Amino acid sequence: MVKFTGKGVYGAVAIGKISIFKKQDVTVKRVHINDTDAEKARVKSAKEASTEQLQAIYEKALKEVGETNAQIFEIHMMMLEDEDYNESIENIIETQKVNAEYAVAVTADNFAEMFSSMDDAYMQARAADVKDISNRIIANLNGTAAGGTDTEGKMIVCADDLAPSETVSLDKDRVLAFVTAHGSSNSHTAILARNMNIPAVIGAGDDFLARINDGDEAIVDGFTGEVFLNPDDATKERLLSKQKADEEKKRLLQKLKGKENITLDGTKINIYANIGSVDNIGAVLLNDAGGIGLFRSEFLYLENSSYPTEEQQFTAYKRALESMAGKKVIIRTLDIGADKQVDYFELKKEENPALGYRAIRICLTRPEIFRTQLRALFRASVYGNLGIMFPMITSVSEVERIIAICGEVRAELKTQGIAYSESVELGIMIETPAAAIISDKLAPMVDFFSVGTNDLTQYTLACDRQNPDIEQFCDTHHEAVLRLIEMSAENAHKNGAWIGICGELAADTTLTETFLRMGIDELSVSPTFVLKVRDAVRNIDLST
Ligand code: PEP
Ligand code: MG
Repeated sequence: MVKFTGKGVYGAVAIGKISIFKKQDVTVKRVHINDTDAEKARVKSAKEASTEQLQAIYEKALKEVGETNAQIFEIHMMMLEDEDYNESIENIIETQKVNAEYAVAVTADNFAEMFSSMDDAYMQARAADVKDISNRIIANLNGTAAGGTDTEGKMIVCADDLAPSETVSLDKDRVLAFVTAHGSSNSHTAILARNMNIPAVIGAGDDFLARINDGDEAIVDGFTGEVFLNPDDATKERLLSKQKADEEKKRLLQKLKGKENITLDGTKINIYANIGSVDNIGAVLLNDAGGIGLFRSEFLYLENSSYPTEEQQFTAYKRALESMAGKKVIIRTLDIGADKQVDYFELKKEENPALGYRAIRICLTRPEIFRTQLRALFRASVYGNLGIMFPMITSVSEVERIIAICGEVRAELKTQGIAYSESVELGIMIETPAAAIISDKLAPMVDFFSVGTNDLTQYTLACDRQNPDIEQFCDTHHEAVLRLIEMSAENAHKNGAWIGICGELAADTTLTETFLRMGIDELSVSPTFVLKVRDAVRNIDLST
C-alpha cells in the first residue's frame, strides 16, 4: 500500500479501480500553406463544431451542477467569439502562411500567458479556459477523438489535471472519485466535483501519476485528501466503515432538504451558512442553507500577495450575491490580525496579538483599506440582499465612526453616479464581553447582531483559542458565555434588531434548544452542518 496526500475538495469516501484519463491529442505541427482563405474557413467550421459541443456540455452541466456552475461553459462559448482572439488566429494564418492548428495553438499560448500575468486572480484563472477552448478547436481541426477513459464500469478517474469541460463530459454515474496530480482546490474542476457530490483529491503529486496503472485498486478519502493505492486489509476495513457511516448520515440528511427550520410547536429560525470564499457557495446551495450568515472576507486578503483592489473585491461580492439569488448574504469586513497574519499588511509583532491590533482596529486606523472594501461592498449591493457586519466591536464610538464612514462612502458613490442599494443591513459581531455588556446601547445603532462565540469564549474565559494545552479550561458551554448571549438577545429584541450566532457554537446541537429559548433568530454554521441543525430544530418542542 502507498499513501498519497492532496487536498480533499468533497468529503466522501470512494473505493474502486483506477482509470487514467487520456487527454485529447492536440499535438500541433507548423505546416506552410498557400490557400489562407481555406485555412480560415477550416477555423470557422471547427469553431462551429466547438460551439455545438460546448452547448451540449452546458446543458449537461446545467442538469448536473446547476446554473451558476454551468456558466463557465457559457463563458467558453463567449470566448470562442472574442474578437481579439479570432483576429489573432486570422493574422497568424495570413501573415505567416501557416496551418489553422498552428495559428490556434500560438494564439492560445499568447492569450494564456497574457491572462496568467494579470494581477486579478479571476483573470489568471481564464488562462486555463483559453487553453481549454483552443484545444477543442484544434481537436476539431485534427479530427481527433475527445479525451476520456478506457475502463468499463465504475472508476476512480485520475489525471494530471482536468479541464472543466473534461470533468463534466464524463459519465457522472460511472465516476466514483477524481484524483488529479496537479490543479488548485479552487479551480472550476474542483468546484464542479464538489457540486457533483463526487469525492475528489486535487494535487496528489507527480509521484502519484508515476505509480498508478489502469485497474489498480485505490481508496479516495475526500475528507482528509488521502489516496491509498493498493490498500491493505486494515485500511480497507477502516475506510469502508467510514464510508458506510458517512452515506447513512447523508441519506438521513437529504430527507431534510427543502424542509422548513421549524420546531414542533411552530417556532421558525433561519439557518444560514459560513463561508470563506465565493467557491464555497456550491456547498451552501447543496446543503440548502437559507443564506450566508458569515462571509469571512479576510480570505480574499489572505489569498492575495498584495491588497485586493476594489474591482477584485467587487467581483467576488457580486458573484456571491448573484449566486445566492436574493437570499441574505452577510459579508464581514476585514478581520485580519491575531491568528490571521498577512505579510503585506506589515503588522508589528505583538506581545498579545489576540488583544492587539486587529480587525476593526485596523480598519478604523487605516481608512483607505476600509473605504476600498466598503465601496466594493456597496457597489455590489445592487446584485442581491446584502448585510455588512463589523468584527471585534467593543464600544459605541467605534460603531458611530463605522456608521459615519458608511454614510461617507454612500455619499461619494452617489456623487459619482454609482448605484448602491438603500436596503443594506448593517450589523456588528458580539464577540467581546464589552459588546455583550453594552448591547443595550449598541442595539439601537444597528440592524442586527451576530455572536462570534469563538472569540467571545476566548475573551470571556481568558482562554487563548489557539492554545491546545488549555482546551480543558475553554468550556464553550460556560454559563458566563451563555448569559452574555442571552443578554445580547434580549437587548437586540428590545431595540428592534435581530440576532444570530455565527461562531462554531451555532452548530452545537446540544445547545440548539437553549438558543431557541433565548430567542436567537439565526444560526450560521458550516455548510455541511446546516441539515444537522435543521434536524435538531425540527425535533425541539418549546411549548413544554
Ligand atoms: C467568532 O469569533 O466566533 C467568529 C465567527 O469569527 P472568527 O472565528 O473568524 O474569529
Ligand atoms: Mg471572531
